[in-house]
Parts: sequence; C-alpha cells; structure tokens
Amino acid sequence: MPTFRAPRGTRDLLPAERAAFRRLETIATDLTERYGYREIETPLFEQTAVFERGVGAVTDVVEKELFLLAPRTEESESWALRPEPTAGIVRAYIQHGMQTLPQPVKLTMTGPMFRYDRPQAGRYRQFWQFDVEAIGDPGPAIDAEIIDLALRFYRDAGLDRIEVHLNSIGDAACRPAYIEELTTYFRGHVDELPQLERDRLERNVLRLLDSKDPAMAALNATAPRITDRLCGPCAEHFASVKAHLDALGIGHVEDAGLVRGLDYYTRTTFEFYAPGREGQQQALGGGGRYDGLIELLGGRPTPGIGFGVGLDRVVLALAAEDVATRKLGKQLESAARDHAHFAVILGDELAGGQVQLRDLEAGSQQLVPLVDLARKLAAAAKSHRHGVGEG
Ligand code: AMP
Repeated sequence: MPTFRAPRGTRDLLPAERAAFRRLETIATDLTERYGYREIETPLFEQTAVFERGVGAVTDVVEKELFLLAPRTEESESWALRPEPTAGIVRAYIQHGMQTLPQPVKLTMTGPMFRYDRPQAGRYRQFWQFDVEAIGDPGPAIDAEIIDLALRFYRDAGLDRIEVHLNSIGDAACRPAYIEELTTYFRGHVDELPQLERDRLERNVLRLLDSKDPAMAALNATAPRITDRLCGPCAEHFASVKAHLDALGIGHVEDAGLVRGLDYYTRTTFEFYAPGREGQQQALGGGGRYDGLIELLGGRPTPGIGFGVGLDRVVLALAAEDVATRKLGKQLESAARDHAHFAVILGDELAGGQVQLRDLEAGSQQLVPLVDLARKLAAAAKSHRHGVGEG
C-alpha cells in the first residue's frame, strides 16, 4: 500500500491546534465587530487575471508562487487559488456595486491562502490569514486606526510586544520619478547585482529594495529613499498617519525598505514583527493602502487600505513565548524536586554583571552582582542552616 501524506507545505490542524486557530478567529470576530467590519467570504479561487492585475505580474506571489488550477479543456478559463485576500475582496466590491453603499465599506475575512512557496519554518503552501479591508476612505486617520486594530488583535491573542514597521511608497504623482531615479542608481551598480535582481531591475525595481539576498544589503542602504522624495500630498499624508499613531501611543520604526511584495500599494505600508524575530519569514502580518487597485480591477477610482495577519505565525509565536516562560518555570520546579536550596538565574541582567539569586525555600529572589555571588550564597546558605530569618 502506498503511504499517503498531506501535500508538502500543508499540514493537518489536529484538534489541539485547530482550537488555537478557533481562539484567534473568535478574537478577530469580536474586534472587527467593534470596529464596524462585516464578514465577507470570497471563493478560494479566482480568474488568474484578478491576481495578475490586482497583485501585479512582476511579483513573487504571481510570478513564482501562484497555484494554477489545471484547465479541464483548452477553452477553460485560467484559474488560480487565492494567494492573498485583497484582490478577491476588491473584485467582489466592484461586482456587487458596493461603491453605492455608505463609504468606507469595512470588510473582514479569515481563511486559507495558497502560495507555491518553498516550504520552511513558518512558511507554508496553505496558510491562514485574518484580513480586514476598509474601502472608500482616503485616510490618514483610518490608516492609524487599522494599525491600532491589528495591534489589539495581537495583544488580545497574547502577543503584546509587537513592533510596527512603517513606510510610505508614494503614489502615481511621485513614484514614477522615484522609480526612474532608483533604476538609474541600480544600473550604475549592475555588476554587483545578483542575477535575479538584475532581471528585475528593468521590470520592477522596487522589488530590489526588499530583496532577501544578503548581497543587496549594502547597495540598498545607500539607495535613494522614497520618503525623501514624496510629493506634497503624500508627504502630508505620511506625516499625518504618524501623528495619528503618536496620538494613539503607537510606537513605530520607519523602514525605507518596506515596499511590500505586492504591486498595488500606494502611500502607507506597514508590517508587524515579534521583537527579535525580524526578517521576512518572521512578519506576523502586514498591509497597506491601495488607492489604485479598485480602478485597476475595473471599478471607479476608490481609495482603500487593509492588512493580513498570518495566523499560522501567530500560533507559532505564541508557542515560542510559552516555551520561553515555561522553560524557566520547569527548570525551577525540577531544581526544587532535587532539593536544591538556591537557583542562580542568568537572564538579561547578566549584561550588567548581575544575576538573580532565588531562594527556593523562601520563594524570594534578589539581584546580586556576580562578584558578590559567592559571598551572598554562603551567607544565605548559613541562614538556611540556622533557620530562615537569621543571619
Ligand atoms: P503578505 O501579504 O505576503 O505580507 O502576507 C501577510 C502575512 O501572511 C505575512 O505577514 C505572514 O504572517 C503571512 N504569510 C505570508 N505568506 C505565508 C506563508 N507562505 N506561510 C505562512 N504565513 C504566511
């Protein structure tokens, strides 16, 4: 008998893990309701052209990662599994005439996405996204509101130290001149470019800025920055988004390399990271403004903004945090079982030459300079021999 397995890059969510996803879905439902979003459900597949136009033909997502469905006959339309939710939701917004509803139309959807990516830790071929889209509002207040909503989701889920990376990538008024300048810059360094980046240079130069190739880091560091070249309205919009974030008490890191993998973004782009887990695979979510997308898919010019949170990665990040805290607790428990009287905990304080000295019998803990550790331990041990409170 052959041994059947789930396809590479996919996995079964067994009951325990399914419950972790269900918990996140419940948090998402509660929050989005409070922020005035209504649920939508679009098909798992669309005409391939929806993604080619809506995501952009020269993107990894479409060029390399699209799951194409084999056509039944030669005349069959070309279909693809959805790699992200925005293009399908915008297609539905146009198809159902949602432009006539009071704007913005706030929509949310949670479900599986598909990318024919090379599977690795935290990167699957079928993964879940919790997505929100606010269509018909040019911002900037809603840009900050949507970032606030995402952060509340992470916090309710149990991740309260999420870092916001923020950028603006301009619009049709200022981006073309910037793209020309960037192309000229990279042409001047064409010999230093890895082959893949050289191929992309003339087709989608922005992609070079978020290249994963380490050879690009130095070149990107000195590349012209879009945020220094925004037109008046884009600069004003960006400044205002930041002011709104400040007013909400949301700290952020400005990240000039944050152009996002998808073509349709304009102005605000953002990504969320768990601290210490940066790098593209570790983004827990991201999104941005797409003021050109509705028109690109055949609708009236309409602004929009949204984000997608990677639920698989949120579950992984929660598990990692749990392990980190559980580890210490477990170690202390096992030390107590071994009848140890003291534990020396080497933590972040070690950088400052200090350790935590924990008295396992008294349950007390004190910060002790390393140089004093032997003396303190001896004194504390003596007090144990004579009974706590003495010496
Ligand atoms: P993106 O639209 O590529 O920024 O994706 C939004 C979020 O979905 C990312 O920040 C990740 O958390 C998650 N994500 C994207 N691709 C994958 C994947 N292949 N496997 C798991 N999560 C993913």
